Amino acid sequence: MPIAGSEIVKMLPGRRPCKECGFPTCFAFAMKLASGGTTVDKCPYLSDETKEKLLDLLAPPIKLVTIGSGENAVKIGNEEVIYRHEKTFVHSPGIALLISDKEDKVKIEEKIKKIKDLQFPWVGVDLKPDLLALHFESGDRNKFLDLVKKVYDSTDRGLVLISWEDMDTLFAARDICADRHPLVYPITKENIDEAIPKVKDNLTPVGLHAHSVEELVPLTSKLKDAGIDELVLDPGSKNLLDAIRDQTFIRKAALKQGFKPLGYPTIGFPCFMAKDGLKEMLIGSTFINKWASVIVFSDLDQHSLLPLLVQRLNIYTDPRFPMAVEEKYYEVGEPNEFSPVLVTSNWALTYFLVSSAVEATKVSAYVCVKDAEGLGVLTAWAAGKFSGDSVGTFIKKCGIEDKVKHRKLVIPGKVARIKGELEDALDLKWEIIIGPRETTGIGAFLPGFAKELKG
Ligand code: SF4
Repeated sequence: MPIAGSEIVKMLPGRRPCKECGFPTCFAFAMKLASGGTTVDKCPYLSDETKEKLLDLLAPPIKLVTIGSGENAVKIGNEEVIYRHEKTFVHSPGIALLISDKEDKVKIEEKIKKIKDLQFPWVGVDLKPDLLALHFESGDRNKFLDLVKKVYDSTDRGLVLISWEDMDTLFAARDICADRHPLVYPITKENIDEAIPKVKDNLTPVGLHAHSVEELVPLTSKLKDAGIDELVLDPGSKNLLDAIRDQTFIRKAALKQGFKPLGYPTIGFPCFMAKDGLKEMLIGSTFINKWASVIVFSDLDQHSLLPLLVQRLNIYTDPRFPMAVEEKYYEVGEPNEFSPVLVTSNWALTYFLVSSAVEATKVSAYVCVKDAEGLGVLTAWAAGKFSGDSVGTFIKKCGIEDKVKHRKLVIPGKVARIKGELEDALDLKWEIIIGPRETTGIGAFLPGFAKELKG
């Protein structure tokens, strides 16, 4: 629960406005601090104790944890709401593929290849699984460490390291890939005392496992007291019903009650909860809806993974803003200087439908996508964001004039009325062609139009 500015101001020095924080009064500074617009260190007159207290009060109710590094780093946590419609979910869960060191070499190679190959371009973004979870099951320390080295060397994905029995091997594995910021799992009530110094040797995120939500509380408190705060929680749910109950309890305790010992992201293991693939995917799908931040699957294939990734995309898209793609021209196929040029708005679905329809004709073309704040063409026109003037300005600056020799621009049939204004905006250098009203008409329109351009 975020602290109010009126509460923060009571903790400030209240000096006659010295303004050293950059704000005219302590009250103004407090209000800005509460909304996240400035930082505690800007006031030089706070005692260390007050600073620490404020930092604790201002910390997000669910801690931000990063697994992995570089562009493949998976950020989880920092969530502010229980239900998506209250505001938005922030960090989508990392989907992990499990590799056991008991699996044969061919299977291991196949899974490493899968994590690289399973990628789906989808409305302007690349959907893909994020993490590899490496499971020490064989009892052969060297075999597991070899697996960790191999995966570390051959991929750049974040890692989850799992060893139930052998903590030394778990931390030796962590040391191989510590710069990749792996999640080390599990720390339990049985091994926590032995684990704390080892975790502190080389700090990376830690996964806690317990037999209930209640059992997690003393574990997180103990680790926090030891200065270990990048934690991921596993309440040990045995089945789907338990998982929903446990995840709900943790989420509500953190967000509604501001209960700090449960203010951490969670991990779910459909791989250990189900025996058949379909059931595993259904549990994974529930974990996406019900707040798990890392979800581990025993195997992945494109048919089950794609729906899961699309579900994740939909749930973790900010409902306050339409999905939009970047304003620029996109190449569909291998267009050349005689290829058709079409213009549309940047609602992701519009772009996806138009580019798919163009692709289906096998005619290479340029699709110029104008920023219309994520609105569809007709709505954008009605809102004044797809006027002839603004489309003309975009066409001039997007660089398409250097790509094609002809000057014929296809506009959506639904906004035929911008033709005159657009011609003027383009200084009468472009001929404006009224295209189909619907994307379904592109198949019948584009091949003939492309022939005309070449002819
Ligand atoms: Fe108040 Fe500190 Fe800002 Fe001075 S620097 S006005 S004491 S908040």
